[in-house]
Amino acid sequence: MSTTPAWVEIDAGAIAHNLDLVRREFGTATRLCGVVKADAYGHGITAVLPILTAAGVDVIGITSNAEAAEARRLGFSGRIIRLRAALREEVQEGGLLDIEEWVGGGDHARVVSAAARSLGRPVRVHLSLNSTGLSRDGMDWDDPQSQLHLRRIAVSPELTVVGICSHFPCEDADDVRTGALTFRNQACAAERLLGAPRGFLEKHCATSYAALTVPGSRMDMVRIGAALYGDTSAAAPGLRPAMRLVSRIAAINRYPAGSTIGYDRAGRLDRAGRLAVVPLGYADGYPRVLGGRASVLVRGTFAPVVDRLAMNSLIVDVTHVPSADAGDEVVLYGRQGSAQIHAADIEQASGTIAAAAYTAWGRLNARVVVNVPVYEPTPTP
Ligand SMILES: *Cc1c(COP(=O)(O)O)cnc(C)c1O
Repeated sequence: MSTTPAWVEIDAGAIAHNLDLVRREFGTATRLCGVVKADAYGHGITAVLPILTAAGVDVIGITSNAEAAEARRLGFSGRIIRLRAALREEVQEGGLLDIEEWVGGGDHARVVSAAARSLGRPVRVHLSLNSTGLSRDGMDWDDPQSQLHLRRIAVSPELTVVGICSHFPCEDADDVRTGALTFRNQACAAERLLGAPRGFLEKHCATSYAALTVPGSRMDMVRIGAALYGDTSAAAPGLRPAMRLVSRIAAINRYPAGSTIGYDRAGRLDRAGRLAVVPLGYADGYPRVLGGRASVLVRGTFAPVVDRLAMNSLIVDVTHVPSADAGDEVVLYGRQGSAQIHAADIEQASGTIAAAAYTAWGRLNARVVVNVPVYEPTPTP
């Protein structure tokens, strides 16, 4: 039990299990990029990276230099791909970390080139195409400038193109199927314009949902985040959620019928009741919108969050859990006994994706790693 008021518990065994499951599904011939951006979706690179490397994953996806630096500090010697367009300063400051950059368009290629000139060496890049219609950081094929851009990139001494990539806007099978086909065609054409031999450049577009739902989207590499952490909308039986958000009851009070509850008097007791205060609030990443809408688990029983949330506390009605007491564990996300708060519950109550919440929980609260797999030491000859 942690001594901090709230903490996230990371189930390392669940991540190892999920990785094993998706690798069986994809086969070992499909290269897997383990996505650890946002500090491994809040689960912590420090906890997640050893699981990936023990399973032979030698490519990871990050967004910040801090994540790449942490991976290198942990001894990761594999490839690191940045999964978004970087600022010029980021490319320069990440120079020693050997990051493969995501080139998000023809003009952005110039930005990365400029950084490479300052670094005094070429930068390996993945050229992003807007084949899927994300319209975020990819080169649009129908733009008359794109062929010029490609020819310029092809002869640039500062850029070494190693891959061509895209990213899907929707978790919808038909949308992914169409986007993957368009990407395949455009990526092959881009490869020709870049003057690379056919099949030379690594082509990749699939996320967890795409790779698990449309095998044709897997191509040379799949970039897997959500499935590792057990939170994907793909039909993938057997994936286990790897995070619990846990706190404890600090105090319980009895209040009469008619009492209003919390800020703005947003809640109201229609009978005498027992209210528990839990030392976790919106500043700790629990979305304020969940006040009055979500439930938590106390003694294996669902109990509603009845106030509008304070900065560092929230109020739970435990009238129907007579045994509830100060010090009891409160689970706000994940399993307690045979009951569970699922990602879908958080999504329904908050109206947004669960990742928007749990990526913050992991970074704002203490992390406790449990169930760490024991790896056989490599025998020395
Ligand atoms: C986050 C991200 C991924 C991983 O997506 P999941 O759905 O979490 O598997 C892949 N590619 C890019 C570009 C990303 O930003």
